[in-house]
Amino acid sequence: MSQEQDQVQGDAGKWRIEVDRLVCAGTGLCLGTAHGRMRLDGGRARPVEDVITPDDAVTDAAETCPMEAITVRDATTGEVLAPLR
Ligand code: SF4
Repeated sequence: MSQEQDQVQGDAGKWRIEVDRLVCAGTGLCLGTAHGRMRLDGGRARPVEDVITPDDAVTDAAETCPMEAITVRDATTGEVLAPLR
């Protein structure tokens, strides 16, 4: 099996968290909403882990971020799961 196939299989059903650190205002709101999933680094949010098992707290954080700095995607397809605009 190729490394790429391994990667796809390994991420199947998982979500990827992205934070636009140029947009994040460092409010820390997402740390409370998605407890243990986000952290502050240099005054901006960062995911603790980029690829996670599905966790609705993370989509809640993406939906409630005042700057819309968080995007949650299907790790395999790249489909945007939150925020839904
Ligand atoms: S809620 Fe949004 S703006 Fe606030 S720290 Fe998290 S990502 Fe940044």
